[in-house]
Amino acid sequence: MISEKMVDYVKGSSVIRAMFEEGQKLAKIYGEENVYDFSLGNPSVEPPAKVKEAIVDIITNENAKQIHGYMLNAGYEDVRTVIADSLNKKHGTSLKQDNIIMTVGAAGGLNVILKTLLNPGDEVIVFAPFFGEYRSYVKNFEGELVIISPDTDTFLPNLKEFYDKITSKTKAVIVNTPNNPTGVVYSEKVIMALAEVLNKKQDEYGTAIYLIADEPYREIVYSNQEVPFIPKYYDNTIVGYSYSKSLSLPGERIGYLVIPAEVDDFENVVSAAGVATRILGFVNAPSLMQKVIARCIDEEVDIEVYNRNRELLYNTLTEYGFECVKPDGAFYLWMKILGDNEAEFVKKAKEFNLLIVGGSAFGGSGYVRMAYCVDYDMIVRALPAFKKLAEAYQA
Ligand code: PLP
Repeated sequence: MISEKMVDYVKGSSVIRAMFEEGQKLAKIYGEENVYDFSLGNPSVEPPAKVKEAIVDIITNENAKQIHGYMLNAGYEDVRTVIADSLNKKHGTSLKQDNIIMTVGAAGGLNVILKTLLNPGDEVIVFAPFFGEYRSYVKNFEGELVIISPDTDTFLPNLKEFYDKITSKTKAVIVNTPNNPTGVVYSEKVIMALAEVLNKKQDEYGTAIYLIADEPYREIVYSNQEVPFIPKYYDNTIVGYSYSKSLSLPGERIGYLVIPAEVDDFENVVSAAGVATRILGFVNAPSLMQKVIARCIDEEVDIEVYNRNRELLYNTLTEYGFECVKPDGAFYLWMKILGDNEAEFVKKAKEFNLLIVGGSAFGGSGYVRMAYCVDYDMIVRALPAFKKLAEAYQA
């Protein structure tokens, strides 16, 4: 007998994963090369060669007891110093190792910070469409998710509704730029506007409202657009970072939180986040991967691979008559459905062996998301199926 809460979680559980499993079933029937799976954000680019070299060198040459042992819950101090220095070099900040907490990916970091901050009933604001797992993460700590409806012209935050929906119970706001599922990147102007609203509301209610910047796609941008480092614009910002996408290491579960000294109640937030890491059962982020990250701090994956996919998919689908948001970052294409029934559109796509995820999973009904972190050749093979899908709605 599982808990009532888990019954709900399981029911609402990941449409994306279900789709992934569906894909494997279809592949058995039609052959792998005839199924076009755009469902999962699993990077298609290999991690940099230096990652493998670092793993081999560390396990061959470093002290095994230290490498595989426990350390501070927040992570190895030397690793956190390397990360703080790297951020300082990039953003002109003055972070120290105390400001960095190593986490079990972005998901681990978000759960740690929400556990650290939330009392039951506290409100957490997200902007639709958003990474669907936020629903569960917030519910894990009995928070209330407050959704700001999408501005479907730009998919940037709807500032008016944001202003109106902040209450004395708003404890945190999650932003995700570059964005999953839209690929939209927030400019400095947008960040400044968000900060202005938040500062006003903090003053009005006399509360602290933490802005949680979920940034696993920070390095995956295609235009020359800067991805602003949000702590520079709003003092109560906590950044959640992950190497899942930027170094193609999603299975290794490694990332970090940045908790700048400027945040309200800094000392308590940092020490509570360390304790949260332990008592959520992570104890600490994977030890070997922490050491690998310190050695690979300047490494990057070749995002030109994703860019090529983006251009092909976006250009061809718009030519077929689909309405898509041209993504500036991440590796997802956000596309308006044809017809007026999202579930039917997704089902129709499946008839052509196209696996795409309905926007409702992200709080963005009437749209679908396609993850284009896939082989270029698969996109080429999938294009005739997209054409047939478009034609099915023109008839
Ligand atoms: N946040 C966003 C916006 C994501 O897209 C993802 C993964 O796809 C995560 C968090 C979780 O990342 P991680 O694998 O590092 O836990």
